[in-house]
Amino acid sequence: MTIPFFEIKNLSKSFGGLTAIDQLSFQVERNTIFSIIGPNGAGKSTIFNCINGLYKPEEGEINFKGQSLRGFRPDQVAKKGIARTFQNLELFAHMSTMDNLLLGRHLHMKAPIWQLIGLSIKPLKAAKEEIHHRQKVEEIIDFLELQSARNQFVSALPYGKQKLVELGRALALDPELLLLDEPAAGLNQEEREEMVFWIKDIRNHLVITVILIEHNMQMVSSISDRILAINFGKKLVEGTAKEVLN
Ligand code: ADP
Ligand code: MG
Repeated sequence: MTIPFFEIKNLSKSFGGLTAIDQLSFQVERNTIFSIIGPNGAGKSTIFNCINGLYKPEEGEINFKGQSLRGFRPDQVAKKGIARTFQNLELFAHMSTMDNLLLGRHLHMKAPIWQLIGLSIKPLKAAKEEIHHRQKVEEIIDFLELQSARNQFVSALPYGKQKLVELGRALALDPELLLLDEPAAGLNQEEREEMVFWIKDIRNHLVITVILIEHNMQMVSSISDRILAINFGKKLVEGTAKEVLN
């Protein structure tokens, strides 16, 4: 029996009397794009919050490359190679794109963060480490074509670019699994198409597995290898875009 890259088994999570996730199970294969769809309040974001350790599920298992994620804090889950973006932008608006991406690398940093960002005179070890992290971040800036935004405050960028910066910050972690919570929410048609392009590129060229939450069915069917539809925290149907549309 082969070990699934990522799997959720019989996951349940409730808030008071409300069951947000109800005995949910699914598996995600390596290097695929797996989408979760469902109406508002269906429990989609709660799944991500259980995966990355923000919420503690009452029941069930979450396994990443054969290892249980049970009991790990968000920073520990991130260190295992699982990065995420949030439904509402969570960026430092009054910092540059570069510094936001550098913050995305903080789990890989040995020197204290205040030595790496903002200080003009740095201890030698921190200075050397900074060069390495800046190179990594420059690669992501080039990959996402964010060069013109590099030194701008995030607050000065159009919303579509801000969403890309958030994507870049998640990539800065060097993840194997990327959790994207409605990355196209609030984007116009053109920006949405651009986002679809980047997500495909991330899977194809960075060889990262993607779990995507999205409610635009058109976007989901053009991008996903598999789709899971949920409501009231329960699985309605799972399969390829064609199967789910039927
Ligand atoms: P979706 O992302 O599919 O729109 P959510 O996962 O955010 O849905 O929410 C699922 C249900 O769980 C909703 O009824 C929501 O109100 C509830 N819920 C989510 N997080 C919390 C929380 N921290 N406290 C209480 N209820 C919550
Ligand atoms: Mg949500």
